[in-house]
Amino acid sequence: MIKMQKTIIRETSFKGIGLHTGCSVNVRILPAPAGSGITFVRVDLPGLPRIKAGAASVVSASYATTIGSNGVTVSTVEHLLAAFYGLGVDNAVVEIDGPEVPIMDGSASYFIAVIEDAGLIALDKPRKYLVVKRPIKAADRDKYVLILPSEEMRLTIDYNIDFSHTLLSRQSFSRLFSREVFRKELGSARTFGFLRDVEMLRANGLAKGGSLDNAVVIGETEILNEGGLRFPDEFVRHKVLDMMGDIALMGAPIIGRIVAHRSGHALNHRFVQEVLRRPGRWELTSTLSQRRFEQPALSVEKVALA
Ligand SMILES: [Zn+2]
Repeated sequence: MIKMQKTIIRETSFKGIGLHTGCSVNVRILPAPAGSGITFVRVDLPGLPRIKAGAASVVSASYATTIGSNGVTVSTVEHLLAAFYGLGVDNAVVEIDGPEVPIMDGSASYFIAVIEDAGLIALDKPRKYLVVKRPIKAADRDKYVLILPSEEMRLTIDYNIDFSHTLLSRQSFSRLFSREVFRKELGSARTFGFLRDVEMLRANGLAKGGSLDNAVVIGETEILNEGGLRFPDEFVRHKVLDMMGDIALMGAPIIGRIVAHRSGHALNHRFVQEVLRRPGRWELTSTLSQRRFEQPALSVEKVALA
């Protein structure tokens, strides 16, 4: 099975405010040729600097993912990149007139709607997949992200979170990934934060644009948003959405079974770097056919403890 790369059919634009900077920004998404990937262009700066969305461009991964080049940055790219990845958009140019992608409602819903409205078109080059053949792991104490080969030749994400809070202890989410799973089960899961952290974030110059319109805020004993949650396990779903945005920086859709335990942007990026540092454990290919891998009986426990 060979699939062709895709881009959008027509340009589309929208505006909104940045979660962390509070800045109002305009975004225009344009079609791009095969092989060009996702490129951000800061149209508010002289020389219109370009930043390629790739693992090598990540300059910060605390609270949100920031990419940059030559001192020019764009932050909070993860939900938009997740929308491109989840819908199968390989190539696009994102013109932006500020330093942060707008947060919209805190999920990828708005981005999914504008991309679907712009339409998708197949290009003249096949899409290349990064097919994992042997396990790869990144860990930080008891937190980890690992990937095992997938005999179905698909992407599976298996994510567990465990916060020490009465309203948010353990949640897990596990699905064989598809465009429909992304659209219906992940895309609308919102960013969340604890009320107890809001002052600390603000003191550090973050979350200036944050409000109940763009994040789920968890108080001591209740969810502060009117209307509550979109899914009982909206938190872990959002973590999976973030993971999709982070693995989108790998440069090729990944085929394997990802297992994440209490991970976040910083560890996700270490995982992406770890994968890219080990080319002997995967191959880039356009042909996805079912196959046997050298070590089919690997268990998550064995790899997690290794
Ligand atoms: Zn997020």
